[in-house]
This record gives sequence, structure tokens and C-alpha cells, in this order.
Amino acid sequence: MNLAAVNRDLGQDCFYESTVNRPDWPSLQNNSEADVVVVGGGLAGLSTALELAESGQRVIVLEAERLCGHASGRNGGQAISGYACGQAWLDAHLGLAAGQQLWQLSLASLQLMQERIQRFNIDCQPVWSYITVADRPRKARALREEQAYMQQHHGHQMHWVEGAELRQHIGSDQYVAGLRDPASGHLNPLRYGLGIAQTAQAAGARLHEHSPAVSMDKVGNDWVVRTAQAQVRARQVVLAGNSGLLWQSPHMATRLQARIMPVGTYIIATEALSSSQAEALLPSNAAVCDNNFVLDYFRLSAERRMLFGGRVSYTAATPSRLTHTMRQRMVKVFPSLQQALIDHTWGGFVDISSQRAPDWGQLAPGVFFMQGFSGHGLAATTLAGRVIRQALMGDRHALDLFERIRQSPFPGGAALRIPLLLLGTSYFRLRDWLG
Ligand SMILES: Cc1cc2nc3c(=O)[nH]c(=O)nc-3n(C[C@H](O)[C@H](O)[C@H](O)COP(=O)(O)OP(=O)(O)OC[C@H]3O[C@@H](n4cnc5c(N)ncnc54)[C@H](O)[C@@H]3O)c2cc1C
Repeated sequence: MNLAAVNRDLGQDCFYESTVNRPDWPSLQNNSEADVVVVGGGLAGLSTALELAESGQRVIVLEAERLCGHASGRNGGQAISGYACGQAWLDAHLGLAAGQQLWQLSLASLQLMQERIQRFNIDCQPVWSYITVADRPRKARALREEQAYMQQHHGHQMHWVEGAELRQHIGSDQYVAGLRDPASGHLNPLRYGLGIAQTAQAAGARLHEHSPAVSMDKVGNDWVVRTAQAQVRARQVVLAGNSGLLWQSPHMATRLQARIMPVGTYIIATEALSSSQAEALLPSNAAVCDNNFVLDYFRLSAERRMLFGGRVSYTAATPSRLTHTMRQRMVKVFPSLQQALIDHTWGGFVDISSQRAPDWGQLAPGVFFMQGFSGHGLAATTLAGRVIRQALMGDRHALDLFERIRQSPFPGGAALRIPLLLLGTSYFRLRDWLG
């Protein structure tokens, strides 16, 4: 099965593409020189490019297909604090002092996103309202514990909601409790990502689409990254290809690629709802995510479409009857959407690391990378760009923290990685189901 083709097909019906007028960026035609070459034009690569260009570095971005054409422009639009592995896991793994620094960095990242949206006038329809919900008592207890933990160890206040108060946020009987996080929210990720691209370009970054990097070699003190047409010679390289590196250039960074697993996740968009219908479903216009292992996440777009995401696939195949099964999940939460038309169905791959913790670091002298966002990258890519730019310019303080996270390759190579993960997920699915 050709993962690249599957991924492209999955993106074709992405609702966000209908909300933008995409500029075209030229492919790399001539041999070029730069201080830094960034491989991958998703949010991670573009955030890095913006940081570098603003710092006066000559930076070239090579994107295999379209800027933000993969996960960065197709996601649920939920800009969330923290990391996919959970703060308590990070604190236990690295010690509380390091965990506290990482938590503060994640808040700073959301702050930076908001600043950029305002400063660069990026019209990405942000709404800073977010709630995690539990659909049964055991899951509600987990939320309570999280609320207490974050208050005690990180001074972060989240607001408990249940009963009638919960109904002021979600018009559904499906949930027993929720936790509102004042730091998080939602936006149109493709508009945001293309805004960052244009800002990076205005700051001096050179952006190239349809330019897959196929190899990378050390030549003297420099690195030479080649596409089919031309090459870039640069002192430093940033690998930001995410799971796409696996299929665009399978031999470029095999050690890295073994540490992430591409996992499919999917979204449907309904037709535009009436104001009263939309307000009855999500009265506070919050983005919502449940706390199950295989989660549902949803929000209203600025056009009042219900964007409902969920399901996962650990094989390269797109699940059969995808629109139908996604609609069933949505109608379970919002029965009144039974008759709503589904205008768009799409999906993409997330880069799960073994512990769902960020996997950012240095691969070789002058070569840095970012991956392992584990479905939690919309805000974290902004932070990653800053952390990698600091390291490229000699300040490794933040990157050192992230590099202390132990990453393990998925056992068994490409063939076995998927069955092992399937086994693990079946276990967690069973736990979700048992309540
Ligand atoms: C359906 C879906 C829903 C999601 N929902 C959310 C959400 O609500 N909130 C959240 O925080 N996160 C969410 N995520 C995750 C989030 O989108 C990602 O963590 C984030 O976009 C990762 O950004 P990236 O730049 O690392 O990767 P990508 O956006 O995948 O960008 C990598 C780019 O590198 C390019 N590339 C790869 N190899 C090469 C090469 N050799 N040469 C040149 N270019 C190359 C690819 O073409 C691609 O464009 C979701 C993801 C998906 C798929």
C-alpha cells in the first residue's frame, strides 16, 4: 500500500481548502545556498523558518507537495496547552522542575500563537474556548485528578463543569463532566499555517513547494540537501517532514523514522448550520475533546459547520464507509444532526511516538529535527520552531530539556510496528468501553 497516495487522497476533500485562496510557491529550480535548509513545509518547518528569518538567517524551506497540505492544514484546529503524553507523565519522567519548565513553555507557545495572529493580522478565526469532557464516572474522576494535579504542581487553574453548567457549553446528554482550560482554543489551521508561511516569506525566508528532498550529505563543513532538480548547500539542516519523511525520502533519516508511527485520524464537516442550531449544540463556541484513549473531538467552524473528528486507523488503509461511521459517532453525541448533510470527509496521519511525548533534538552536527507531536501539534509546532531556532543559534537550554525525554524505536521495524500498536490500541479501546 502506498502511504503517500493514501495520504494525498485523504486530504482531497479537506474543508479548510475551500476557505483559502492558496498562493503558489515555485519549486526549487537552481542550486542555492542558505544558512539553514528546512525539510518540510508544515507548521513545524514554517514556524522554524519564520523564527530564523526574523533573526536574520538565510533560510530555504523545501516542501514535497503543498505548504500545510498535510496534517498542519487538515487538523481539528484545536490549539491545546501541554503535550500528548500528559503533564503528569512528563513530570514523573523528567522530574517536577523540568516538567514545570516544559509546561510553562507550552503556555508560552499558545501566547506566541496569539501574538502572531494579532501582529501579522492572520485571519484564522481564533476562539479561545476549550473544554475536555468525560463520558462516564471513571473518566470524570480522571478529569478531577488532572484538575487537582495541575493546580497543585503547576498553578494552572481549570474550571470544573457538570450538570446544568455543562449544558451551557455542550448541548448533549453524552457527557457527565468537563474541564475548561482557559489557555486553549480553536482556529482554522490552514489559514493560520498559510499566514505563517506568508509572514516567513515577508521576513526573507525562501519557500519552495513541489520540491521533495531526496538525500542529504555532509560536504566539507556544510550539508547538501538534494531534490530531483537542484540542491541547497547550508551549514545547518532542520528535518520537519513528520511522518511524510517516511514515504518522501525513506532513507534520509531512518533512525528517526523508526521512532514514530503514522496513525490515521479523520474529520467530517456538516453543511453550515443555522445560528440557533449551532448555538444549541455548542453554546459557548468551545472546542471539545473527550478524554478517551480513542477520542472524539469537535468544534464549530466560523461558518457554523460542525467539524467532528475521531476514529483512528493503525493500518495504511482508509477505514471503509468512513463518512457513515463518522456520522454515527457525531449523531451519538448530537442526535439532532441525524439529518444534517455531510459536505466534507477527510483525514491524515499523525506522528505518534512510543510515549506520545515530543521527539525533538539533534541528529548529527548541524542537523536538527522535530517529530512525535502525537496528534497534539497545532500549538506545539510553534514552540518547536522557537526551541529549534534557539538551538541552531547556539542556545540549547530548552532543547536539552526535550532531549532528556527517552524515546524508543517501535519494535520490529515497519512490518511489525503496526500489529503491535493494534494490539495496544485494542487494549485501550476495551478499557474505554469497560468504563
Ligand atoms: C486529521 C488530523 C487532526 C488533527 N487534529 C489536531 C488538533 O485538533 N489539535 C492539534 O494540536 N493537533 C492535531 N493534529 C496534529 C497536528 O496537525 C500535527 O501535530 C502538526 O500539524 C504537525 O506539523 P508538522 O509540520 O510536523 O507536520 P506536517 O503538517 O505533516 O508537515 C510535514 C511536511 O513535510 C513534508 N515532507 C515530508 N518529507 C519531505 C521531504 N523529504 N522533502 C520535503 N518535504 C517533505 C510533507 O509533505 C508535509 O507537508 C491533527 C492531525 C490530523 C492528521
